Amino acid sequence: MFQSDASKENSRKHLVSALRQHLHNDQWSEVADQILKGNRSALSQAITWSESTLPQHRNFTQKIIEKVLPFTGRSFRLGMTGVPGVGKSTLIEALGMQWIQQGHRVAVLAIDPSSPITQGSILGDKTRMEQLSMNPNAFVRPSASANELGGVAAHTHEAILLCEAAGFDRIIVETVGVGQSETAVHHMTDCFLLLMLAGAGDQLQGIKRGIMEMCDLLAITKADGDNHRKAELAKAEYQNALHLFPERPDAWSPPVVTLSAIEKKGIDLLVEELNRFESWSKSRQWNIRRSGQLTWQFETELLRQLKIKMSGLPLIQEVEKKIIDQEIGISEAVQQLLAAIFMDTDKTP
Ligand code: GDP
Repeated sequence: MFQSDASKENSRKHLVSALRQHLHNDQWSEVADQILKGNRSALSQAITWSESTLPQHRNFTQKIIEKVLPFTGRSFRLGMTGVPGVGKSTLIEALGMQWIQQGHRVAVLAIDPSSPITQGSILGDKTRMEQLSMNPNAFVRPSASANELGGVAAHTHEAILLCEAAGFDRIIVETVGVGQSETAVHHMTDCFLLLMLAGAGDQLQGIKRGIMEMCDLLAITKADGDNHRKAELAKAEYQNALHLFPERPDAWSPPVVTLSAIEKKGIDLLVEELNRFESWSKSRQWNIRRSGQLTWQFETELLRQLKIKMSGLPLIQEVEKKIIDQEIGISEAVQQLLAAIFMDTDKTP
């Protein structure tokens, strides 16, 4: 029996559409291969997918991560934080170029805790890291807008893995020291560098004590011109302040350095201190810290996805109403809710 023209045309369309779909669905595989060859456009594409909420993009991301996972983990991940204007981008440019001269490949990722209310990017649109951005051995990724920290933490972790798979062995994760994001950065890097200005009024510049306790290294920036002496004084003050903290469980005592990123002074010493920390850490707690990071990532992501899933449950509204009507206390409400979700019949509301 012969097919009618219309039915032939339909079959052809069906075939073309299936083929297109197949090519489209297979796109991730080509991108993953290109990433492993160090292709920066493919890396960019994968990071864009990882930040997307579209199910197909999430699917591509998971497949790519799975494929490249054996080629990840072999970088030194440096977290960097400090108030806006402290000199982060200028230092990243100087440090990054120094590392590249030493034969490294450098990736820079930013976590920007922009407020969803202002919609603005704290890190701004100013031209940042011009030299580094143009260097073939560097990859600079401006941050995605972040209105939810947990999601950003997961995306940044994925971006770190993708950069490692693309052969970047020095990864800088930068954040503005004004929110909770530095805790997230601390949980996803091997070394946490805190930048401080000398003599900027309040010695702690709004940097919470907790952040100082987290840092592995502290650098006083802009130690040049008239500021040089002030920077040396600040160094002594911060050294004293750090000594007052209880000894860390890992027994590392964070050094304080002064530097001028503009005059390229103190960058050598910073690199030396970073190397010293890396070797020290590798001889002791490297694997423990990395495993701890994975656990933290897992728990953060689990809680985030649970929250998203639970927020749609009608039961949540019922329990919330009971709390507002003062029928039950909060702790009891949570217990009842969990009992209902986990089918614990004794406690079901
Ligand atoms: P960020 O907001 O922390 O990224 O800071 P930037 O790197 O953009 O620097 C903020 C301002 O400080 C810019 O005008 C820089 O030129 C200046 N700056 C950065 N590093 C230095 C430095 O080492 N010495 C001096 N004198 N100024 C610097």
